[in-house]
Amino acid sequence: MIGLISATAAGAAARDRLAAAWPDRTRVYDGPVAEAVRLAFAECEQLVCFLATGAVVRLIAPLLGDKASDPGVVCVDEGGRFAVSLVGGHGGGANELAREVGELLGAEPVVTTATDAVGVPGLDTLGLPVEGAVAAVSRALLDGEPVVLHNEPGWPLPPLPVAGEGAYGIRVTDRLVESSEREVVLRPPTLVVGVGASKGAPADEVLELVEGALREAGLSRRSVAALVTVDAKAGEPGIVAAAERLGVPVVTYAAEELAAVEVPNPSDAPLAAVGTPSVAEASALAEGGELLVPKRKSVRADGAPAMATCAVVRRPARGRLAVVGLGPGARDLLTPRAKAELRRASVLVGLDQYVDQIRDLLRPGTRVLESGLGAEEERARTAVEEARKGQAVALIGSGDAGVYAMASPALAEASDDIDVIGVPGVTAALAAAAILGAPLGHDHVSISLSDLHTPWEVIERRVRAAAEADIVVTFYNPRSRGRDWQLPKALAILAGHREPATPVGVVRNASRPDESARLTTLAELDPATVDMMTVVTVGNTATRDIAGRMVTPRGYRWQEGTR
Ligand code: SAH
Repeated sequence: MIGLISATAAGAAARDRLAAAWPDRTRVYDGPVAEAVRLAFAECEQLVCFLATGAVVRLIAPLLGDKASDPGVVCVDEGGRFAVSLVGGHGGGANELAREVGELLGAEPVVTTATDAVGVPGLDTLGLPVEGAVAAVSRALLDGEPVVLHNEPGWPLPPLPVAGEGAYGIRVTDRLVESSEREVVLRPPTLVVGVGASKGAPADEVLELVEGALREAGLSRRSVAALVTVDAKAGEPGIVAAAERLGVPVVTYAAEELAAVEVPNPSDAPLAAVGTPSVAEASALAEGGELLVPKRKSVRADGAPAMATCAVVRRPARGRLAVVGLGPGARDLLTPRAKAELRRASVLVGLDQYVDQIRDLLRPGTRVLESGLGAEEERARTAVEEARKGQAVALIGSGDAGVYAMASPALAEASDDIDVIGVPGVTAALAAAAILGAPLGHDHVSISLSDLHTPWEVIERRVRAAAEADIVVTFYNPRSRGRDWQLPKALAILAGHREPATPVGVVRNASRPDESARLTTLAELDPATVDMMTVVTVGNTATRDIAGRMVTPRGYRWQEGTR
């Protein structure tokens, strides 16, 4: 929850805008400001104060505790010009909140945290729990002092300015290690704990068993990714509660699946009860990995028979392949999620012209593998190979990377030993539609006129089907120097089923600096005005030119009447 506090009428107006925009995320604290801040500080994860920074500093000073648990605080000045991330920049999410609030109120976000400022990722922003000397090592990174990275599992990380040797260190490990004043420990989610439990096993018994097993094996509970068990135990209260307290999900497998997993310590009891000779070991090993703690049983103080078993497995790190759509061109049509993935990558793969579109966003040290037009399959293979090596890879494409682009060749190459994350982008058809008006208000298709990889017969059959079904059509790859007869042919097929006056929108370089758009008709379209930077959208029989905008009715009955 975000607590909102204001003192004056101007502050209250801005506060109300925020409250209206985020009704489920915010709570307004009225009344005397000092009391409001104190209450909100205790009850909320974040605060936005529409007050001077000086006032807020004085009010929260006595409340500040620990940077890991304190709420993030953002100050917005009475004029609504600046959204200042005051405390809790990373841990409290205040930097991100300042940006969000800034966006909403039209205020400039002010972020002074050093790591955000110079492009070194904050150690607490890498998506892994972090322990140890965060402040000292961050400072060392910023000061350019040598920092050594010990990435034990080979976890996919963004580029970090690290050296071969030095006094400071970043260690990625699931092992319990002695704390040092010069080392940060990042906890990768590499451990899975297989759990078996008889009906009614108490949560405390399960939790103590799991924590004891981890402790004795020298493993951190913060590296546990999941509790795993057999389907039949998915709702077993003791397991569910233990997972909740560890802050991890419960993942389950079918008994037949577990019965097929080879384990060192099978037994007859679970075979009779749930149909597999092993639950704890088999579920922990179901997706491979190294058995660090073989099956062990809980110990009960009253000497009664154990009700829980567990086993711990370390899974190998998985590389990460993000398939990222960059949008049609304009920076503000690049989604925040796409931006975050670009900054998370250690390797970027893409066509050189698309790399140019986002080069300034990449973290220093990102390895860029760019290639020219054509080498599509090679790019796909390179991206997958790098991810298999354990890298964090971003494979980029313009528009949406899944639309006539890199996602399918890449996923055709990819095996299940890497994680794949898709980030959607604004595809050309949508960028063009927004410029033209509302041409896609009813059913529509995209058809690529490139017969490089698709026989023309197939393309023609699809154009014919769209024509017969009266569907709005957007043509991608409509025309190039070597391919000039396909567009007239496709338009002729559509003209067989639509009036000559049917609106046609031609948009070139949508959202790029030399954007241009024209609304014409099937009869009047001059193919010479179309090239490879263009999409062509042909309306259906209901599409109209209304005040110079291309509009396809949604097909409501009342609209039929107005035609
Ligand atoms: N993945 C891309 C499409 C790649 S195919 C996307 O989702 O948009 C390449 C074709 O897309 C081009 O020939 C052109 O027809 C179209 N295209 C891509 N970007 C465009 C833009 N900004 N304006 C107009 N057409 C565009």
